Amino acid sequence: MYDRCPCCQNPTFPVLPQQAIAYICPVCWWENDVFVDGEDVPSDENHGLTLKQGRENFYKYGICDPRLAGKIGNRGWRDVVRMYAQGAKTFEIHCWKEETDWIKLAMDYGAVKETEFSNMVVIRGEITPAFLEMLLTMEKPQDTEIYDKMTPFFSIFFDNGFSSEHYGTELYFGPQMD
Ligand SMILES: [Zn+2]
Repeated sequence: MYDRCPCCQNPTFPVLPQQAIAYICPVCWWENDVFVDGEDVPSDENHGLTLKQGRENFYKYGICDPRLAGKIGNRGWRDVVRMYAQGAKTFEIHCWKEETDWIKLAMDYGAVKETEFSNMVVIRGEITPAFLEMLLTMEKPQDTEIYDKMTPFFSIFFDNGFSSEHYGTELYFGPQMD
């Protein structure tokens, strides 16, 4: 159902890249360009960047074109989470034990699940409109020194296989949650 972005490789494409005319990846902000064939060809849709440059920028800055960064914040992360939440029913949030504020907040929407982890707290609950509103309206964390955090929650798993990990800097879609 979801295909990978040719730039950041995240599963953000609702259709095959060849069919996604003018689609902008909400994670790396690469605009899909069906008119270039090859990673060294400048893309008009991306201000002359090549796909290769876009990828290098994404690894370095978390966005295909760092000139766009200040304008976007974590909007892309929110768009992707919203898209995958549509096919999901339950969530699990994993926080480090000392992240007590975020544990408390998550517990408003679920309950602590017993796990073998001693340094993490896992909260499991239903994906309700209220939960999504909380998750998707939070400010992007200011603390971006180690990770360019998109969310204060270390990992978020949905039961349809979507996950946002390392504070939203890595997104996955695949059968992962048990
Ligand atoms: Zn992308």
